[in-house]
Amino acid sequence: MANSKYEYVKSFEVEDKLMPSTWIVLRIDGRHFHQFSDKHEFKKPNDERALELMNACAEAMFEEFPDLVFSYGVSDEYSFVFKKTTEFYNRRSSKIVSITVSFFTSFYVMKWKDFFPDKDLKSIPSFDARTVCYPSTKIVRDYLAWRQKNFDLHLLGKGVFIPMDYKLATAFSFVGHINNQYNTCFWKLIESGKTKSEAQDRLKGTQTQDKNEILFQLGVNYSDLPAIFRKGSCVFKDKVEEIVKYNENGQPVKRSRNKVITDHCDIIGDKFWKDHASILED
Ligand code: ATP
Ligand code: ATP
Ligand code: MG
Ligand code: MG
Ligand code: MG
Ligand code: MG
Ligand code: MG
Repeated sequence: MANSKYEYVKSFEVEDKLMPSTWIVLRIDGRHFHQFSDKHEFKKPNDERALELMNACAEAMFEEFPDLVFSYGVSDEYSFVFKKTTEFYNRRSSKIVSITVSFFTSFYVMKWKDFFPDKDLKSIPSFDARTVCYPSTKIVRDYLAWRQKNFDLHLLGKGVFIPMDYKLATAFSFVGHINNQYNTCFWKLIESGKTKSEAQDRLKGTQTQDKNEILFQLGVNYSDLPAIFRKGSCVFKDKVEEIVKYNENGQPVKRSRNKVITDHCDIIGDKFWKDHASILED
């Protein structure tokens, strides 16, 4: 078909090759998951099975796309980091975005019943995705810290003023005015018999400490909640030593290999990155 009179149409395609030698971060986010989670009666604010399904999708991504080094997920979103040197689809953004997000979505649908055996899938889930290039390890770490902090502003250690009602705050969630601690508090107040507007009123203008106090009065110690709710989830590849066999003297023969690990870590501080220095090595 080359050199046909139709060939020129190819020249309308735009170049979307991502900058070389930069970390490629891909963020996938559920479309209209506020509605989707209502329709499928997700537990509020954190449905554990829904989070585990997202984690299973992330793990499958690591099996499928060998250049992934780290990922972090909360709620209906997951961020994936490709190694700096990746030549995956020649670093073409539209190829990377479309292949990964369709793979993620298909896997989500395929595994739905494993996680929700008692619930039919009543609507078709879809996800958006984007790529962003980051030139240094520091900025990748700041990006990941931003996602974790956004989710749990409680970690700031100082109050976060929420001068909006819940609906408005939800609409503004992309700038981080709403967080997991607020949500936990809001839904606990609902559980205790308050209406949505009573719960909003109770939380208006409260600081982190006030919200902790409300939770405490309702019998919840925020720091006792499972880590998956407080920290979100990390899926990453790490080097592990494995015993492959025993030699004739009965001594173990070890080999190091990359294993996909899922954990709920603090990725804002230095400790995780010191303990896993190889993940973001240049
Ligand atoms: P958009 O299409 O713009 O992303 P959205 O409705 O998906 O809109 P998000 O800001 O992405 O809005 O927020 C996702 C929403 O999905 C949360 O606010 C929450 O209501 C719901 N949600 C996602 N995951 C869970 C979960 N595991 N448990 C409970 N609710 C969840
Ligand atoms: P790439 O990932 O680069 O797109 P590809 O293997 O998908 O590689 P394509 O050029 O897209 O290659 O071609 C799709 C191939 O899929 C065809 O060559 C054919 O072998 C197979 N295929 C697709 N649809 C059908 C179909 N309906 N019946 C039989 N074979 C099909
Ligand atoms: Mg979105
Ligand atoms: Mg969403
Ligand atoms: Mg989201
Ligand atoms: Mg084709
Ligand atoms: Mg094809």
